[in-house]
Amino acid sequence: MLRAMARRVIVALEAVGTVGMALGAGPTVAIRTDFPGGNVVVVKAEPGAVQLAPDLRGGMPWFYWYFEATADRPGRVNFIFPEKVAGFVNGAIGYQGPAVSHDHGRTWQWMGTDDVQGNAFRYQFTKANEKVRLAVTMPYVEADYARFIKGHAANPHLARSVLTKSLKGRPVELVQIGKPGPGVRAVLLVCRHHACETMASFVFEGFLAAALSDTPAAVEFRRKYVLYAVPFVDRDGVEDGDQGKNRKPHDHNRDYGEGSLYPEIDAIEKLADSRNIQFLQDFHCPTLRMEDHQVMYFVGSKDTPAGNEENVRKYARMIKEGLPPNSPHGPLVWLQKRAAKAAGDNCNDHFAFREGAIMASTIEIPFAPPKATMNATQARGIGQAMLKAWAKMEFAGGHGGTPAMEGRGAGGDGDKAEAHASAHMLPDASGPGRRLEH
Ligand SMILES: [Zn+2]
Repeated sequence: MLRAMARRVIVALEAVGTVGMALGAGPTVAIRTDFPGGNVVVVKAEPGAVQLAPDLRGGMPWFYWYFEATADRPGRVNFIFPEKVAGFVNGAIGYQGPAVSHDHGRTWQWMGTDDVQGNAFRYQFTKANEKVRLAVTMPYVEADYARFIKGHAANPHLARSVLTKSLKGRPVELVQIGKPGPGVRAVLLVCRHHACETMASFVFEGFLAAALSDTPAAVEFRRKYVLYAVPFVDRDGVEDGDQGKNRKPHDHNRDYGEGSLYPEIDAIEKLADSRNIQFLQDFHCPTLRMEDHQVMYFVGSKDTPAGNEENVRKYARMIKEGLPPNSPHGPLVWLQKRAAKAAGDNCNDHFAFREGAIMASTIEIPFAPPKATMNATQARGIGQAMLKAWAKMEFAGGHGGTPAMEGRGAGGDGDKAEAHASAHMLPDASGPGRRLEH
């Protein structure tokens, strides 16, 4: 009788012990990144806790990561990043928590911040072999673009071609919407000079979709403009899951002018000449956590071409009028006086100083601002508002040829522009430079 009771107690203790161990240790997690856009370094993995870091691949510190986790059984896992990432405390997790996908990266939601603590977040696996994709942002790779463009394959206003091949031999897509003709002016849309800036792609997609539509704004737009668009300027970086930003020796957005390293930039410059591009709309995202970077804002050249600031301000005002509810604040206008350089220029400067330029516009879209909605649908809505605003624009200036050439080869002023370009990398930098990111 006593022996039987003792045995029951032991059995019960064992049961408690097993449950206790499961709670304490948590599941063992397998991490993989061998898919488009994948990026992470596993620093240390133990049951219930995985230490991770963004994979810089020889580049400067930055914050992009995207992986798939598979748990061997149900339970909670802590995913822990370094305390400081890219110079920011808790710099690897944005204000809406990590992005999570339960359908292999096809659709994404923000996890929210309830399960975020400082530089770590926890995820509750509910069954054995559950797979979840987690990322710092909502990823956007070739497959996402392919789905989008397939939906418009029969659109009579759309023409697709290969702009060039990337260094790794991938085709770089060029889209044309509308047709050139007398009095029709050429606009260039470019995205992903910096591979990790994914939220910008959803806005870009919204702009394209709106330009292809049959709304009065789209009809008006196509009557006045022909649109050329490059969805992935750093084609390899996007697919490989690179940070892209501050790539060594310089990134795609510092590759304009003489001696370009990347075939995409050479091809864009040639396209600008052959199609007489007079308008630029470049899409970027700023840093993840800097306070100033939780709004939408325009950066770029203030007074070149003549009237650029006036045009960008007008454009920004009209975009604001058409934004979907609960969009991030802005777009604000933070342009600077710039000087042209012979080489190492950024895209905005290159197009600002082109002969015949009318507007050079670069917009920054926040990744995950704390007090606004930001997701694929919202971002597409912002892109639609941009197209609608553009169609209504009466552009000032348009004779920017002569002043554009003055700064060329001046040399000295290039240093100033370079100082601004690097100032934004430092989170503690003061002055207007700390607001910039493109
Ligand atoms: Zn950028």
